[in-house]
Amino acid sequence: MLFKSVGDRYLCIVAERIHKGERVLRGIPVSAGVCRGKILVLDKARKGVERHEVAHAEVPEELNRLQQSLVRTREQLQEVQRKVAQNLGAEHATIFDAHLMVLEDPALIDEAVRVIQRDKVNAEYAFHTITERYADALAKVEDEYLRERTSDMRDVSSRVLNNLAGHSDIIDLAHLGEPCIIIAHDLTPSKTALLDRKNVLGFATDIGSKTSHTAIMARSLRIPAVVGLKNASDDLTTGEYALLDGFNGVIVVNPTDQTLFEYGQLIRKQVTLEEKLRDALTQPAITLDNHRIFVSANIEQAGDAETAQSSGADGIGLFRTEYLFINREIPPGEEEQYQAYRQVAAAMKPHPVVIRTLDLGGDKLLSSLAAHTEMNPFLGWRAIRFCLQHEEVFRAQLRAILRASVEGNVKVMYPMISGLDELVQANAFLGQFKAELQKEGVPFDDKIEIGAMIETPSAAVIADALAKRVQFFSVGTNDLIQYTLAVDRLNEKIAHLYEPTHPAIVRLIHETVKAAQAHKVWVSVCGEMAGDPTLVPLLIGLGVDELSAAPPLLAQLKYLIRRLKLSDTRELAAFALDCESATEILSRSQALAQRAAPSLFDTKK
Ligand code: PEP
Ligand code: MG
Repeated sequence: MLFKSVGDRYLCIVAERIHKGERVLRGIPVSAGVCRGKILVLDKARKGVERHEVAHAEVPEELNRLQQSLVRTREQLQEVQRKVAQNLGAEHATIFDAHLMVLEDPALIDEAVRVIQRDKVNAEYAFHTITERYADALAKVEDEYLRERTSDMRDVSSRVLNNLAGHSDIIDLAHLGEPCIIIAHDLTPSKTALLDRKNVLGFATDIGSKTSHTAIMARSLRIPAVVGLKNASDDLTTGEYALLDGFNGVIVVNPTDQTLFEYGQLIRKQVTLEEKLRDALTQPAITLDNHRIFVSANIEQAGDAETAQSSGADGIGLFRTEYLFINREIPPGEEEQYQAYRQVAAAMKPHPVVIRTLDLGGDKLLSSLAAHTEMNPFLGWRAIRFCLQHEEVFRAQLRAILRASVEGNVKVMYPMISGLDELVQANAFLGQFKAELQKEGVPFDDKIEIGAMIETPSAAVIADALAKRVQFFSVGTNDLIQYTLAVDRLNEKIAHLYEPTHPAIVRLIHETVKAAQAHKVWVSVCGEMAGDPTLVPLLIGLGVDELSAAPPLLAQLKYLIRRLKLSDTRELAAFALDCESATEILSRSQALAQRAAPSLFDTKK
């Protein structure tokens, strides 16, 4: 929402220039900042693979194309493997062994060759048909290991098809001679995690939304990003020059000098604002009527603790530990996890560090642990559900967290609790692992605080029961909104229905806070709502104690809170609890934020 007014102004300016040779594409802004440079289209939306017949004399050429693309894919995969081994360690690189095996499978290649020769069809069609048949068959087998090879098969197939079509692939990032703006149909969180920060100026995708983990990663990495552009990967071509505006969700292809000048001004305003916000970094977030709100950071990697500190964080409100598990075949063991958690705990000491147990599933599909394709991954085998059924994974993680608890102020938090039994079971496991460590003489903080995420409507409704068994709640609004409103958080087509100020959400947060206060339980909000200055007055008025967001957003949160009055926010919350319209609640909260800190919104010269 920051720069919304200037955004509207620039959208108008930009729209006026369409006829002057510029092309403007509009999507959803997910990570602030403006960048310009050459476009690199990674992969296009695949609209099925076309079948076309080839003349008898053209068959050798099709075979040759297939052969060339297999060789090229193998080289690319080996390059990725080398890069991953270098950056993340040899054991992480083993994930690509399975991919290479698919490429070298003689039965599969022979069949594709036979189809080209017998049916006289194009190489794309032959290869796609055979790999899809294999993938379908693999998806149905009983053996879990084999079933997990389905996604390897599809991934390899997609790389080969990209090479047949002459498209660049994500792995070409390693060879970029110059910085560029990445355009892709989709970028998974695991691919985003691999992006070479030096060479990626910004990125844009056809699909996605503000709360997709790809967008969340972009904000943490401070890469300007736009998602939900629908056809950008088809409309844009590698080599075109463009400007990407992550404030307003706009891509301007072939910007005129005038547009570049105007954007130069926008960038200067951004720099001035950042200078202004710098002072807020070191100050506590205390309202004008003396009410303290804790402003903490969400992090994805142990190394992010440093950024959190330099961003003025009061602690780590959410450590998304699943990123330790991503892009690798073998999950990290207890010792490796301990080192990561210890590093964050020690860096942040004496400030609190909330370590969330593995939240895999949804859009965070991990190569090593869950490659299954589910009908509804967000309603499926996700987060605490997965951990409770994988004792060995849960054990390694909880032991590592417990061991790290003596190195700082560590708290443990369970994601996606949807019923009391899950919390009781998780706590029983924690007790069991504590007893183990005690027996082994390994030190840990026996009083480690336990938290439950409130991100399902059922958890919010039974918050009173949960509150008796935890010391804190963290409201995961990203999921709470999608589950309450039945709106997929990744789907740009229904993004307009994804309303953080929907009365149902306001009431669920209110119920959660009420239950928490009755049991002296602390309430944090760690979903993307917490990082949006427009929504901060509402959350504070509803009584939350802490806001946790990506480090780059913390300064503006503190700046705003220091200019708000708790009494005004409470009035706003009372209004919201009585209001039937999401839009009205939003505009009231926005108006209060804008009144308190106009410079966060007013970007006039
Ligand atoms: C949330 O759901 O709001 C949350 C913080 O968890 P995640 O975004 O990782 O699902
Ligand atoms: Mg969540």
